[in-house]
Amino acid sequence: MGLLDIVPAGVVTGDNLRKLFAYAKANKFAIPAINCTSTSTVNAALEAARDIGSPIIIQFSNGGAAYFAGKGLSNEGQKASILGAVAGAHYVRSVAAAYGIPVITHSDHCAKKLLPWFDGMVEADEAYFKAHGEPLFSSHMLDLSEDPKEENIEICLQYLKRLAPMGCLLEMEIGITGGEEDGVNNENVDNASLYTQPEDIWDIYKAFSEITDLFSIAAAFGNVHGVYAPGNVRLHPELLGKHQAYVKEQLKSEDDKPVFFVFHGGSGSTQQDINIAVSHGVVKMNVDTDTQWAYLVGFRDYFNAKKEYLATQVGNPEGASKPNKKYYDPRVFVREGEKTMIKRIQEACEHLGNVKRN
Ligand SMILES: [Zn+2]
Repeated sequence: MGLLDIVPAGVVTGDNLRKLFAYAKANKFAIPAINCTSTSTVNAALEAARDIGSPIIIQFSNGGAAYFAGKGLSNEGQKASILGAVAGAHYVRSVAAAYGIPVITHSDHCAKKLLPWFDGMVEADEAYFKAHGEPLFSSHMLDLSEDPKEENIEICLQYLKRLAPMGCLLEMEIGITGGEEDGVNNENVDNASLYTQPEDIWDIYKAFSEITDLFSIAAAFGNVHGVYAPGNVRLHPELLGKHQAYVKEQLKSEDDKPVFFVFHGGSGSTQQDINIAVSHGVVKMNVDTDTQWAYLVGFRDYFNAKKEYLATQVGNPEGASKPNKKYYDPRVFVREGEKTMIKRIQEACEHLGNVKRN
């Protein structure tokens, strides 16, 4: 039985989203979340997943969403980020079913100072829910990991109460990611923060599950965000297994893996670490840096190879009056970036076991 026997093609929310993640957890694979900034990158992600018969997660970051709406728009009051994320989600909804695969539409990291962005997206979900009986987005991510745990949980709960009735999932983050990010050096933070403790996971699980089971947790197990020389922080994905066991014990449940986990900051991690993480209930892994690079490679190689056809509109090595239109048509060179991005997304899917799942 494949995924398409369980959930329909197109954007999944609510019950179908729950079924999709439960299927991934039970069958020990995770779905990559691809950061997209344009219809071109959205299409690349959808095509990549379609061609290997697997589900995919399209996610928009705060900056990526603003870019989607247009760099020329002011982002005062988060207006461009709201517009771009909402437009992006509508675009994904317009085409996803045609690709014949289950698709999750998600918004990436939202820190406390970006809450107006979150509010704008949830308002769009509520409007969409009124008209169609489901939210616009499948899920959203709230990152209050820099705030004290109690405050993190409290603010998440406020939003969870709005998202749960629509069947929209909330992803949250707990613990500090290692490395240096945005000038904040977490190199010397204590172990307990770099590695989320089972008690923290239980505190979240207990509070959230009073409202809904549609939530996921990005726990810190030595993950490093951004570009940072590896080695200072060691990845311990086996900790996720301890969290699952602890929650199971508290619940007195038969379920060995009650929690949906998310893997952040996974760039450069080994196949073994990924396998361990996925075996312990990671159902989603963020992929951004590597697909950005892959998208560039296609453009770069094309421009290098066709240099003499791109210097002027007319005239190339084949003749001074030969037109170059077929070389500078954006459909030609943007497509080259899409092709290399598609390849990299499919590699990510393979690493996560997300192949031939439909
Ligand atoms: Zn994160």
